Amino acid sequence: MNQLIHAVAFAADKHRKQRRKDADASPYINHPIALAHVLANEGGVEDERVLIAAILHDTIEDTDTSRDELVRRFGAEIGRIVDEVTDDKSLSKAERKRLQVEHAAHISHGAKLVKLADKTCNLRDILAAPPSGWSDERKREYFDWAKRVVDELRGTHRELEAVFDEVYRKGIPSGHVVA
Ligand code: NDP
Ligand code: ZN
Repeated sequence: MNQLIHAVAFAADKHRKQRRKDADASPYINHPIALAHVLANEGGVEDERVLIAAILHDTIEDTDTSRDELVRRFGAEIGRIVDEVTDDKSLSKAERKRLQVEHAAHISHGAKLVKLADKTCNLRDILAAPPSGWSDERKREYFDWAKRVVDELRGTHRELEAVFDEVYRKGIPSGHVVA
């Protein structure tokens, strides 16, 4: 529990100047907290290392945090999980998206759980508070790409996959998604 609170404080500090892409520019930290909430309270995930990795999941990708720093503060496994869900930002966006689909089946169980929660939370955000300026077509492309990633990690957690599928289906009636 102490480590989890430590991670929340650490991530809140690292993301303190960042905002999400929605019209209200919500505080960034809401997103990692949403992942941990989905894992713990919708998926019943109790492994504290996975919940902590969820809280920290965007720190390497989006802040000055290194894997070594996470390993020192939170241990080797949490550092590894966060590293596994971190895109290589030196690559083009298209390449990063392709690699997520390619790698999803081969990452650790903990990393698959974090990725599943990340995609679920981002689809929820696109439905409820989308990045400003995104067309319906762009939203649909994102939904379909997220599903391609999740399809590669099926068999990881039945309930959480069902939660993802339910959110994905919500995109269909509004025309965001082609079934
Ligand atoms: P981005 O990767 O730029 O944005 C999506 C990411 O932003 C999410 O994965 C999430 O990442 C983060 N995010 C922050 N705020 C929100 C929010 N409110 N809702 C959801 N996600 C949020 O965009 P794309 O994924 O679209 O990547 C670019 C791709 O889009 C390119 O491959 C390009 O081909 C395509 N494109 C399509 C266009 C179109 O009109 N069809 C136009 C331009 C580009 P995290 O969880 O890591 O924070
Ligand atoms: Zn994320």
